Amino acid sequence: MSRFFSHRFDSLEPYVPGEQPKDSRYVKLNTNESPFPPSPKVIEAVNEASVGRLRLYSDPDCTDCVKAVAESAGVLPSNVILGNGSDEILSFVFRAYCDDDTPVAYPDISYGFYEVFADVFGLERRVVPLREDFSISPEDYFGIGCTVVIANPNAPTGLALGLDDIRAIVASNPDNIVCVDEAYVDFGASSAVGLIKEFDNLIVVQTFSKSRQLAGARLGMGFADEKLIKDMNALRCSLNPYNVNSLTLLAGAAAVKDAGYFEATRNTIISNRESATAELKRRGFTVLDSKANFLFASHPEHSGEELYLRLKSLGVLVRHFSKPRISDHLRITIGSAEQMRALFDALDEILK
Ligand SMILES: *Cc1c(COP(=O)(O)O)cnc(C)c1O
Repeated sequence: MSRFFSHRFDSLEPYVPGEQPKDSRYVKLNTNESPFPPSPKVIEAVNEASVGRLRLYSDPDCTDCVKAVAESAGVLPSNVILGNGSDEILSFVFRAYCDDDTPVAYPDISYGFYEVFADVFGLERRVVPLREDFSISPEDYFGIGCTVVIANPNAPTGLALGLDDIRAIVASNPDNIVCVDEAYVDFGASSAVGLIKEFDNLIVVQTFSKSRQLAGARLGMGFADEKLIKDMNALRCSLNPYNVNSLTLLAGAAAVKDAGYFEATRNTIISNRESATAELKRRGFTVLDSKANFLFASHPEHSGEELYLRLKSLGVLVRHFSKPRISDHLRITIGSAEQMRALFDALDEILK
């Protein structure tokens, strides 16, 4: 660090994304992207004419894409905010709704960015341990007196809470914001978006990165009561009013309108997940009951780090976290049938 960097950041540890290798040597099952290309409609929308319009600023209100997202979710445009990835929406939540009197609460095992945001914004925090079986105990969050951030399904476990539990957490914290990060909800969990009409303290965050083939476009959305959307838009317009670029706005609107492609690709991932779960169990792995596009698995005879390194040497990238409680686990993204075949061939080589 330079001698000019504010001392506020002395102990900052930035988020470490999964490896993004520059070559395509690897079967890439480490960062939960889709194995499929974007919808053909997206490729039509991002054409020569739209590239030509890059000379102009993007629409700061994201009008057309907000409308498409709202229609698809069954809410009003005034209930929607778009961000440069859902990470940006989450950053608005941490900035807007936490302060000295209101710490942020999240599970000890969850999306790594929550801790990074708490650090960079200097927030008080309440880190709530998952149960021994890695599930979230909803009761731990009842009337907790903090801004609550929960990923549902949770990452990297893939376990999901039912809507009744989410509702109970939101209802028991009427004077605090509850943010449900639904990055993986499309792969089999129930969305809380329908509850935003009922609760003025609920923010639901979703992304185009996992189930809509647009991780590199950087597009996320938040759903909430109109007043909360106004708060977050005030922050957005004070930081970067053109936060979503114009090609991404076109891509996002086209993707969300192509419901058929979305359904077909996510159903393929769900079915590949179910067969991969059986294949892993057959090889002696313990596998959590995932409702996401990844599996969280451990093997009784091989450490997580060993499996990660040996898979990598055989050309298969998965994610390993050197963190207490989960260092013996691997997080394996569900890819195409062919990619999963390559994973199991490599595992057979390692386990033989
Ligand atoms: C991937 C992921 C995100 C971030 O998604 P982007 O929209 O790509 O920023 C947010 N939350 C969780 C739990 C994720 O796994």
